[in-house]
Amino acid sequence: DDTSGCPTGAPDEAVAPPLATEPALPFDHLPLPAAMLDTLRQLDYRTMTPIQAASLPLALAGHDLIAQAKTGSGKTAAFGLPLLARLDVRKLDVQAMVLCPTRELADQVTQEIRRLARFEANIKVLALCGGTPMRPQRDSLEHGAHVVVGTPGRIMDHLERGSLVLDGLNTLVLDEADRMLDMGFHDDIAFVAGRCPSDRQTLLFSATYPEGIASLAARFLRKPQEVKLLEQH
Ligand code: ADP
Ligand code: MG
Repeated sequence: DDTSGCPTGAPDEAVAPPLATEPALPFDHLPLPAAMLDTLRQLDYRTMTPIQAASLPLALAGHDLIAQAKTGSGKTAAFGLPLLARLDVRKLDVQAMVLCPTRELADQVTQEIRRLARFEANIKVLALCGGTPMRPQRDSLEHGAHVVVGTPGRIMDHLERGSLVLDGLNTLVLDEADRMLDMGFHDDIAFVAGRCPSDRQTLLFSATYPEGIASLAARFLRKPQEVKLLEQH
């Protein structure tokens, strides 16, 4: 599943290259545990992408964030690293949740967070998406998870049935928020956010910044910092 270590020198088409005019910043200066930095080196993440360089210091300092950057710019690590850095692995409750518009995207985010989580063998990351039976997901939740990644409708389902409890949540991520709004998930997001502790950190990521994003942020984020990367080509 892991092809990031490809040593051929061939360009990785999935990676957005950092802007040529900006200095490439290493991850080392971030307040991350040494074991996480080791994992990043193993994954061959040498320098931060621009959206990572702009959002990681703010997110790690605990700010809510509205971050806008195009697809392929490395947004998953921009929210994945802060939520993983904050986990208390000994407590087996859901401490971070990522909402994604589709099952495919949720599966991608799950895989990426699992890769980033390799520094600690016991971190459990669970995907909760529609289109698959509830029962195995309920069983997995009963065994415990630190991070859940899912689509709003299915997450809402679990909340209503009591199989998912968010009392211990400290990080809520809205990934591809513009697409979630396009797909009509506004009310589901509102329901889910209403079940999260109010002192959580909320990180909103979006490729575009339509009107609806501003009102979503106004409703669910607290004093958010805005990180917008201008069109990169
Ligand atoms: P986005 O969510 O913005 O579309 P992703 O988070 O999916 O982008 O990242 C795109 C690709 O770039 C993934 O394959 C990821 O593993 C890789 N990637 C992300 N950050 C880095 C980095 N700092 N160095 C190298 N590769 C990276
Ligand atoms: Mg993404």
